[in-house]
Amino acid sequence: MIKHHPQQELLVSHANGNLPLSMAIAISAHCDLCETCREQLALFTEQAANLALNPDSSHAANDTGEELMHREYVEVQHSGGNQESALDIDAMMAQIMAQPAATNVPNNAPIDVDIKQQHYTVPSVFRQHLARPWQILGKVSRMRFDVDETNTRASLLHI
Ligand SMILES: [Zn+2]
Repeated sequence: MIKHHPQQELLVSHANGNLPLSMAIAISAHCDLCETCREQLALFTEQAANLALNPDSSHAANDTGEELMHREYVEVQHSGGNQESALDIDAMMAQIMAQPAATNVPNNAPIDVDIKQQHYTVPSVFRQHLARPWQILGKVSRMRFDVDETNTRASLLHI
C-alpha cells in the first residue's frame, strides 16, 4: 500500500521533462505503481504538450486578422528554412536508419529482479539502470544507479 505520494509540483516538473534523472526515475517508478499519481501525471503531460504545441492557445479567441497574418508570415519564413538544416536532417535520418532494428521486447514491460533468493517484478523505468551488482549491507541491499549527477545519488533498495 503506497502512503507517500510526490508533491504535485514534482509531477508537473516531470511532465515538462525538467527533473534531474535521479528524480525522474523515482517519479516514474512511483507512477508505475500508483494509479492516482499516474492519472495526474497523464493530465499534466497532456497540458504540457498542449502548451508546447500551441503556446498562443490561451488567447487564441482574441486574435485579430493582423495577428494571424503576422503569425503565418513567421511560419512561412521559418519553414522556408535553409539548405543546411535540411541536410542535417537527412544525415540524422541516415544515422537512425543505420541503427540495428529494435527488438520486440516492449519497452514498458515490467522487469524481473532477483535478490537474496527472492524474485521481484519492478517498474520498467529501471530497465536501463539495473547494471551494477547488488551491495548487501546487512538487512538492506542496494543497487546504485549511474545518474551522472554531482549532488544526488539514486539507488534501488531491497529492505
Ligand atoms: Zn501516488
